[in-house]
Amino acid sequence: MSIRTTISLIKCDVGSLAGHHIVPQPLFKIAERNLQKASEDGLINSYYVFNVGDDLELLMVHTKGETNPEIHKLAWDTFKEAANKALELKLYGAGQDLLKTAFSGNIRGIGPGVAEMEIEERGSDPIVVFGADKTSAGAFNFPLFRIFADPMNTAGLVIDPNMAGGFKFEVMDTVKNKKVVLKCPEEMYELIALIGTVQRYMISRVWRARDNLICASGSVTRLSQIAGKYVGKDDPVMIVRAQHGLPAVGEILAPFMHSYLVEGWMRGSHWGPIMPVGLKDSKCTLFDGPPRMVALGLQVTNGEIAKDDEGKPMMADLFDDPAFELARREALENAAMLRRMGEFEPARLGPDEMEYTTIGQILEKLRERFKPA
Ligand SMILES: [Mg+2]
Repeated sequence: MSIRTTISLIKCDVGSLAGHHIVPQPLFKIAERNLQKASEDGLINSYYVFNVGDDLELLMVHTKGETNPEIHKLAWDTFKEAANKALELKLYGAGQDLLKTAFSGNIRGIGPGVAEMEIEERGSDPIVVFGADKTSAGAFNFPLFRIFADPMNTAGLVIDPNMAGGFKFEVMDTVKNKKVVLKCPEEMYELIALIGTVQRYMISRVWRARDNLICASGSVTRLSQIAGKYVGKDDPVMIVRAQHGLPAVGEILAPFMHSYLVEGWMRGSHWGPIMPVGLKDSKCTLFDGPPRMVALGLQVTNGEIAKDDEGKPMMADLFDDPAFELARREALENAAMLRRMGEFEPARLGPDEMEYTTIGQILEKLRERFKPA
């Protein structure tokens, strides 16, 4: 009998230590305690709590399916409790992503970021989960394209007959709140036409075309569109499935050999170079960055994360590796180049994105002083 297992990765910035830098230990403890209790109660089977910069990330593996109200409530209550602790400690941005006060069954669209994937377990199911800080879901467009559509990145597209037929991409138009599915390789150029506009079109799901096997699922939200103003970037999460007719873990990580530019960074208002890092460097410092990305590898086994002899979930900290030194070095070089430009575009985002920031107040102050030219 096949097992249907759900991986839920739900994240929230509930407050951080010294500005927008890192999730402090008391908030971690609350998350650990609540998820431990939920696993003892049988609601979830496995969990792993980590942070990407100032975002508290709850990875939960269970058999309740996607968008399950009990799972979402567990995450919401945990973030609420952690936010209250952050408030008590006067941590920075306490509860900043909790945009609504009441929970009504689904955590999506009320602040926290959600990536979920229900799978029918294969003989072996390697999973890579990604989290990024100081950027948005559009930051995954470029690597997802390379992983699932670019034969120069993914050898399997060329030499693995199980990948023949390519992959289908669901793309969200975050301005009009609509989605479209495009198939590669046939519609590769159309796909790039959309997802090259990373601030608006974002890949939310990927399936293997020949059998609709789910292979990637991401959090796509625009908090500014929910709140109507700048409330922090929608620091994204993504779940990717690997191997056996899907891209290998190494092909999933290959796009991160080099840094590339993403929107976000300081005040969510700048282009910045992505920096792949291990958990120990998962913090944002320089100009609140550079935008960091973490990748964790796990095996899903009989409805839970495969465990070690002591019963702890086994997690591979994939970017904690000298193989990504080049990307980190490039990130710093590109960071230096961009910061030399200060507040001049294209170092700073264009006017459409700046609309949601405090720059509106500056423009308003000057409005009356503008005279016909
Ligand atoms: Mg963040």
